[in-house]
Amino acid sequence: MQQLPDYHVHTCFSGDSDTPVKKMLEQAVSLGLSEICITDHMDYDYPDDPDLFLFDVREYFSVLNSFKEAYGTRLSVKIGVELGLQPHLADIHRKFVIEYPFDFIIGSSHVVDKADPYYPSFWEGKKPETVIRHYFASILENINTFSDFDVYGHLDYIVRYCPDKSFVYRYEDYMDILDECLRTLIEKGKGIEVNTAGFKYGLGHPNPHETILKRYRELGGEILTLGSDGHKPEHLAWDFEKLPELLKSCGFQYVTTFEKRKPVFHTL
Ligand SMILES: [Zn+2]
Ligand SMILES: [Zn+2]
Repeated sequence: MQQLPDYHVHTCFSGDSDTPVKKMLEQAVSLGLSEICITDHMDYDYPDDPDLFLFDVREYFSVLNSFKEAYGTRLSVKIGVELGLQPHLADIHRKFVIEYPFDFIIGSSHVVDKADPYYPSFWEGKKPETVIRHYFASILENINTFSDFDVYGHLDYIVRYCPDKSFVYRYEDYMDILDECLRTLIEKGKGIEVNTAGFKYGLGHPNPHETILKRYRELGGEILTLGSDGHKPEHLAWDFEKLPELLKSCGFQYVTTFEKRKPVFHTL
């Protein structure tokens, strides 16, 4: 595959981006991407501001479908969404994913126990290890409550927000719970993504860490999408040039794209 497809991209339909869709698509064309999937935030019941990460889905489809047509074979535009999972939202999500004809759905954990780990207050008075372990346990709970998504987003991204910068994240400390998450995803026929925003945040690794990617492959995981999690045009396909070698060293031979929720495999 020449230019890898970016399958985690935000636009002004997300509460934390003001990038017009067209700007993102133009950037994709100028980078030589042949495929992009727009995956704006849909986080029901976001703490303190329940409407912040919601968008008008009909308008979303109408805008994206017109771009799909306008770009034609120049750029394959797929319509996705990043759903913010919380266990009590399972019924809402079950209806949501059936109601609209998405190509691709990322399930992500942005909120744990009705709070966002992005804020330092989430970590106050707790050991970072305890917070991270609890985050992984909540991912498992989410998967077991609702699994009609295609991939789980940025599995260990909580480490980006640890306010104690001297804390060293050792993925080995959580392998028991992570193994359970990965096994459950694989059993349910679901994939994960490699999210390069970890590089952008200066972590020196993608999310999840290479070791977790490798473990997923060892356990039989095959569905893997690539995402920059870009909120601005300059973030698109961030550090994607690192991916072929990195993923091959983790045992992957294929990357996945989706069309109408069906995986398509491409040789790396
Ligand atoms: Zn996310
Ligand atoms: Zn995102």
